[in-house]
Amino acid sequence: MPWKLSTEFTFDSAHIIEGYDGPCGRLHGHTYRVQMELQSDQLRPSVHVDRPIMVADFKSLKWAKKDATEGGLDHAFLNDHPDLGSDTTAEVIAAYLHRETLRRVKASLPAGDDGADLHLKVALWETPESCCEYWE
Ligand SMILES: [Zn+2]
Repeated sequence: MPWKLSTEFTFDSAHIIEGYDGPCGRLHGHTYRVQMELQSDQLRPSVHVDRPIMVADFKSLKWAKKDATEGGLDHAFLNDHPDLGSDTTAEVIAAYLHRETLRRVKASLPAGDDGADLHLKVALWETPESCCEYWE
């Protein structure tokens, strides 16, 4: 894995952990911090450049920081998100960010390239002290 892209961003969202016997069971919000790490064996073209000079466009790793009305998670009520359902723990959100980001990156690959050498790790901080990591 000679290349690794790394990028970080934040988004603000509200949620409720349904059925949680404590403060997390009440409506509240977080400034979530996300770190994406994408490793690759090879360089590729992107939708913006024809030559094989990138692991991926950094923009493809940051879609979640967009406003909820533009397909991201910023200023969303996470429990209403169709791909998350009512369970919005850091673990569930990190797995969703991993699944959706890898799907978007692979959707932009040239025909015949399955992206089998791409490996993504997502770290999601729900608070400055508490982080969940997800990778495959
Ligand atoms: Zn919470």
